[in-house]
Amino acid sequence: MEFKTIIEPFRIHSVEPLVMTTPEQRREALKAAGNNLFSLRAVDVLIDLLTDSGTGAMSRDQWAAMQQGDESYAGSPSWFRFLESVQDLFPFEHVIPTHQGRAAERILFTAIGGEGKIVPNNTHFDTTRANVEYTRASAVDLVIAEGRDSQSMHPFKGNMDLEALDALLTEHGPEVVPVVFVTITNNSGGGQPVSLENLRGVRAICDRHGIPFFLDACRFAENAWFIKQREPGQSDRDVRDIVREMASLADGMTMSAKKDPLGNIGGWLALNDDALAEQCRNLLILTEGFPTYGGLAGRDLDALAQGLREAVQHDYLSYRIRSTAYLGEALANAGIPVVQPTGGHAVYIDAAALLPHISPLEYPGQALAIALYEAGGIRSVEIGSVMFGLQPDGTEVPAALELVRLAIPRRTYTQSHIDYVIEVCESVAQRADELSGYRITSTKRQMRHFTATFEPV
Ligand SMILES: *Cc1c(COP(=O)(O)O)cnc(C)c1O
Repeated sequence: MEFKTIIEPFRIHSVEPLVMTTPEQRREALKAAGNNLFSLRAVDVLIDLLTDSGTGAMSRDQWAAMQQGDESYAGSPSWFRFLESVQDLFPFEHVIPTHQGRAAERILFTAIGGEGKIVPNNTHFDTTRANVEYTRASAVDLVIAEGRDSQSMHPFKGNMDLEALDALLTEHGPEVVPVVFVTITNNSGGGQPVSLENLRGVRAICDRHGIPFFLDACRFAENAWFIKQREPGQSDRDVRDIVREMASLADGMTMSAKKDPLGNIGGWLALNDDALAEQCRNLLILTEGFPTYGGLAGRDLDALAQGLREAVQHDYLSYRIRSTAYLGEALANAGIPVVQPTGGHAVYIDAAALLPHISPLEYPGQALAIALYEAGGIRSVEIGSVMFGLQPDGTEVPAALELVRLAIPRRTYTQSHIDYVIEVCESVAQRADELSGYRITSTKRQMRHFTATFEPV
């Protein structure tokens, strides 16, 4: 007998209290935070959906693995356990540990970026773009057209536009394009997956033009699960085999271990090119540490070695993807406009569609995020004109989309927590026409979404 409920494939072993607050207390907290949810104290948040990065729950076996952590400066047993676990899934010659994904990016692009270079990606994640641009190279996004359409039901909306990639590489050869990147899943595009067929296509184009191909593989396990579910001929495969095939198509990867590897911190850069690896290790030593620990403690390496084994378990992935879709479907059924289909790690509400009376530069996404916190203590994040609207010359241009992201930490909240989130979203949506926009009252120029303060218009 098959039951339709896909349950959390774990039971609770140690608990963290959630602090209940009243709307009055939350209004006070908002006032103290200048209406910026990044400035809240986390204890004043009931359900924290700000990010899925480093916020997941570790397992019993990960905590046990941490006790095996060996803090030897060089050649620690923890390092060899980490290396074996990484290479079991991603058999690259060189693995370079870092404290986070962005450290791997900074090292790689310091080595291969620079003025006049162009780096294509399906969609650059923001730190990836920032690290490319910091070297004065340009970051170009070449996701397929369906990936830019919030309502398209294409099964692999993260796919690279192969024609556009081929055209770019025909115009600019390996002297200009040092690497082609594909982000799996496509985080900035809504956590949408990339098919194996598309990765094979990118590989073939890169071969034809003699250019290396790297994966930004933060959500590799979720991507592989989507391949198993959606790609013809893949349903009988073990996720580990799909991951190994994805890796076999690439020449290297960057990773944030705060995502699918189920860590609270960590990352790595892996690649096959000996000379480039040597150059990257030299940069690693400058800012991260010796090549057998990078920016990590031995205990972190052990937690990740175990997390990688858990990340590819089918029961876990089935629950993970289903529980995210559960939230997306419930909001859509309640008539709340969401980006379709639901991606792997987050649900995105279309705030511009929900709040058509608030103009983009009065920040409908910020208005909705504040309302969700005030109504139910839920912390989400605006991904719209607050985050992207400010131009280098100081003017403001509305972002392409005004979204509010509800990111789902791994193994952290139960279905009743999510049912509560759904209720809060419904009650805010029912009085959407009463919400007003916001204006920014003080701000810094760089990364203003972290620090700006807001007041209602
Ligand atoms: C989180 C993330 C990064 C950066 O990793 P950090 O560990 O946050 O530095 C890079 N790329 C993608 C797709 C990410 O989601």
